[in-house]
Amino acid sequence: MRFTTLAMAASLLSGSVMAEDKPFAIAIHGGAGTIVADKLTAEQKQAYRTALKEAVDAGHNVLATGGDSLAAVTAAIIILENNPLFNAGKGAVYNFAGGHELDAAIMDGKTMNAGAVAGVTNIANPIKLASAVMLHSPHVMLAGQGAEEFALEQGFSTVTPNYFDTDARKLQWQNAIEKIKQDQQHNKNYQASIHQFTLEDKFGTVGAVALDKQGNLAAGTSTGGMTAKRFGRIGDSPVIGAGTYAENGVCAVSATGHGEYFIRYQVAGDICARVKYQDISIVQAADQVINKRLIKAGGTGGVIAIDHRGNIATPFNTDGMYRATRKNNEDAQVLIWQQE
Ligand code: ASP
Repeated sequence: MRFTTLAMAASLLSGSVMAEDKPFAIAIHGGAGTIVADKLTAEQKQAYRTALKEAVDAGHNVLATGGDSLAAVTAAIIILENNPLFNAGKGAVYNFAGGHELDAAIMDGKTMNAGAVAGVTNIANPIKLASAVMLHSPHVMLAGQGAEEFALEQGFSTVTPNYFDTDARKLQWQNAIEKIKQDQQHNKNYQASIHQFTLEDKFGTVGAVALDKQGNLAAGTSTGGMTAKRFGRIGDSPVIGAGTYAENGVCAVSATGHGEYFIRYQVAGDICARVKYQDISIVQAADQVINKRLIKAGGTGGVIAIDHRGNIATPFNTDGMYRATRKNNEDAQVLIWQQE
């Protein structure tokens, strides 16, 4: 009798320990590119690190208190969208015409549902609208005016397009236009010029991936796209399988970089397919795609990726990628460059 009681107590204890031990983790990014350490002041570096920590902690807090991965991803992204340092929401870049067109997507690995918006001009937090598309429409992606009409129906408040104006992005845009004009005089094509801008300092897309205690994976990405992009251009971020992807039991990915490559090479989906069908680790799969396949193709950028056990990979083939991770009850790790 005594033995049985003890055995029951032990099994209950191990059951509760196991429940407590369910892995959970989050990774976020704030864009990849040529982040030159000397060009950033100590205050700027600190401002990026503080913002990344605030965002990763917000998402982590959702997970630690039993919230789901979709809520964690959304909480982290909203903080980054509201911060003018990042090319999403408030700090979105300018398109060629001098306006702002924002793209965002979110994917639920549990249901394989996804929602995305492209080319929206008056929504402060496009990630929220992407969630609304996923949850309250029969569609996956809504673009431009149709997305904005849907937002009104869903009770979203709108902002005037100049809400997205910032001096730093305006300067980047002016420099980009100048460069494109010079390149045109030398018969260089627009595509080549745009590629150069991605390599320089036009990064800043934001994203998050998370695993919650229930084992659900989610991914989200939000961006203003690429500086001086053509009016109507849509990047990889809202394209499911390119810039954003999540599948329970496999992995969740959010990308940043030269979107045209990420679309053509199906980066997020390819990483998860490698994990699923080749049975390799998330670190190997993400490295193969970012540091081999994409480099060979000439595509620049990086990803944050997480698997169903909470293993995280954050490869990028540029100088830097603003990023942060936080697993279980560990402290946050906030990083910018390859070697730190
Ligand atoms: N991937 C984004 C796009 O092409 C840009 C970025 O990540 O910096 O729209």
